Amino acid sequence: MTAVRVAVTGASGQVAYSIFPRIAAGEMFGKDVEVDIRLVDIPPMIEKTKGVMMELEDGAYPLLAGLSATSDRMIGFKDADWVLLVGSRPRGPGMERNDLIGANGPIFVDDGKAIAAVAAPGVRVAVVGNPCNTNCLIARAAAGPKVPDDRWSAMTRLDQNRARSLLAAKTGARVRDVKKLVIWGNHSSTLLPEFGNATVGGKPATAAAEKGWLEGDFVKEVQGRGAAIIAARGVSSAFSAAQAVVDHVKSLLTPTPADDWFSAAVVSDGSYGVPKGLVSSFPLRSTGNGGYEIVQGVALDAFAKGKLDATVAELQKERDVVKDLL
Ligand code: NAD
Repeated sequence: MTAVRVAVTGASGQVAYSIFPRIAAGEMFGKDVEVDIRLVDIPPMIEKTKGVMMELEDGAYPLLAGLSATSDRMIGFKDADWVLLVGSRPRGPGMERNDLIGANGPIFVDDGKAIAAVAAPGVRVAVVGNPCNTNCLIARAAAGPKVPDDRWSAMTRLDQNRARSLLAAKTGARVRDVKKLVIWGNHSSTLLPEFGNATVGGKPATAAAEKGWLEGDFVKEVQGRGAAIIAARGVSSAFSAAQAVVDHVKSLLTPTPADDWFSAAVVSDGSYGVPKGLVSSFPLRSTGNGGYEIVQGVALDAFAKGKLDATVAELQKERDVVKDLL
């Protein structure tokens, strides 16, 4: 049995801390798939990652076939089948979103170059570190043609999970009964949780909940949920983000059920008027081999189109901020 080699950057951070036990327990790649986990972080954090390694050892996970920690991407990413880019600089006091985008850019240039240089030929990359769409755009550009467009994704799954939970709670349904509720655009406060095509218990979401609520508080609450968690907890979401990373990878590795879609930000092929090359969230389906296709022919009403335009405009602005890195 060959172990899946998975490298995770930002390995000493709180999201990674919640991801590692899930990977080691087989929840990401399967209960019969061995894993070789590589913890990657910046040099000052390596001592801390050693503590995380000790905890992974102490978990005595039967599927854990390999475990290492390094501050050298060229070692951590070597032959990696999956690279989860979680590490990024947090927003400092007085930093605007554009400052954060600029500060993080060089990290993802280095990530992208190292992935192209040493990762496995079939590597797949999931970007979690924010601003994740634009960080993915940067890493993808830095990697060049060796790692094709369809290997890259950025995580909007936490937003999708939030939207489905919220709609289920509002309509008295179970989360598993909510289908085709997916995120379009940026992982930011402009994201679109598109409810016009969603179903609850097989019926249109627009029949299960009031339009006024869907267009108003629902969208606002999903867009602002990350900030609400920071306000309540003092730190940003961690285990819910880890759950979303597990779901994100699993959705790419599992055939999508016929009655559902999932969302992730991927390199646009021009679908729905989203400029080619931008990393934007779309409704996706997977055949279960790690890849995806963008669902075509989804009808968007005027409300959805307006919101999609706004979030895509934001992505274009972010791309302008980092144009020197592309
Ligand atoms: P954290 O502050 O706990 O950890 C950040 C990690 O990044 C640490 O390991 C740190 O050493 C590393 N890091 C710092 N500077 C770095 C640099 N210059 N180069 C490489 N790595 C560096 O943060 P967290 O809560 O674990 O969140 C990690 C990232 O994931 C953040 O960017 C956060 O905004 C993002 N996030 C995204 C989503 C999403 O839905 N896409 C959800 C939650 C968190």
